[in-house]
Amino acid sequence: MTNTAADAEVRSGGCLCGKIRFTVTGTPDYPHVCSCPHCQKRAGGPLQTWVGFPLTRLRWTGEGGEPTWFDTFPAQTKRGFCPTCGSHIAAHDHGDSTIGINVTALDQQDDPALLPVNQSFRGDAVPWLPQVPDTSRSPVG
Ligand SMILES: [Zn+2]
Ligand SMILES: [Zn+2]
Repeated sequence: MTNTAADAEVRSGGCLCGKIRFTVTGTPDYPHVCSCPHCQKRAGGPLQTWVGFPLTRLRWTGEGGEPTWFDTFPAQTKRGFCPTCGSHIAAHDHGDSTIGINVTALDQQDDPALLPVNQSFRGDAVPWLPQVPDTSRSPVG
């Protein structure tokens, strides 16, 4: 895929109440679910679904600006959520050039490019839900 084509891939998203809105541009990187204890606790559910985009291609476009950030690992990882409705939006590892976006925050989720290709922290996963198979080494397409 050329840079020009990646530039044309613009996705929008936001929180439940609409105060936090964003756009991300570029090819989705490594969509996956995570069942680590932090994801479970913050989701109020058995897992969260993540996809990466270039941090420089993220724009906060809603009236609320950036989400509220909470350091789940101080000075290492922060998670962003809407301070009004609590929706989970993003995660960022300090210094990383990629921003993790909660797939559930995107407006269009029925996109083959967002299908999870792996599951992190399988050992922490609930036993009553099938796990996402690891297809991350398969050719995408
Ligand atoms: Zn909100
Ligand atoms: Zn996690």
